[in-house]
Amino acid sequence: MCAKKLLHDTSHITYESLLEGNEQFIADALAEDPKYFEKLANGQTPPVLWIGCADSRVPANQITNTAPGEIFVHRNIANMVVHSDMNMLSVLDYAVNVLKVKHVIVTGHYGCGGVIAAMSNREFGLIDNWLRHIKDVYRLHSAELEAIEDHDARASRLVELNVVENVYNLCKTTIVQSAWKHGQELSVHGWVYSLATGKINDMKVSTSNNTKLGDVFKFE
Ligand SMILES: [Zn+2]
Repeated sequence: MCAKKLLHDTSHITYESLLEGNEQFIADALAEDPKYFEKLANGQTPPVLWIGCADSRVPANQITNTAPGEIFVHRNIANMVVHSDMNMLSVLDYAVNVLKVKHVIVTGHYGCGGVIAAMSNREFGLIDNWLRHIKDVYRLHSAELEAIEDHDARASRLVELNVVENVYNLCKTTIVQSAWKHGQELSVHGWVYSLATGKINDMKVSTSNNTKLGDVFKFE
């Protein structure tokens, strides 16, 4: 299948090949279940919202062995939860308040270009405004990060800390706070995916209430 093709060679991917791939996808799905599309068209009840990086190597469904209909997905550069991001907030609101997902997972990945760029002093243009949020994560944890001499190891730790901070940001949203206040079953989690091994590293910051948040962030 396509996911197993050599990732470094994308020369076979063309506009036309994507449409051909679509025909193959339809044929394969119908061969397995003639009512496949009929069932999916009836609606979605995904139990999970995924907030991940836009990186092409970290597709939510493939790396968790799930299918269409099973994960609601939001992706941006470096899997950020930014409180003024109407796109992320709209997805989160719909997932929590309409779809009633039970889990929200922030998934980063080692070797994240956005995180590595944020660690540098280079100017990248428009994206610097977005990466600025990661620089804030660096500033919060600068003592720990600067004690790591190896650049790649430091970048990996920043990837992890960026996930943890974004889980924290997620908990602080009015949407998650309100869900918890009203007793809705909702857990948030932080994961880091390894491109090198395919393995997901659980950051063990899962929480399903606001007891670990600073008081100033809690709703009464
Ligand atoms: Zn990334």
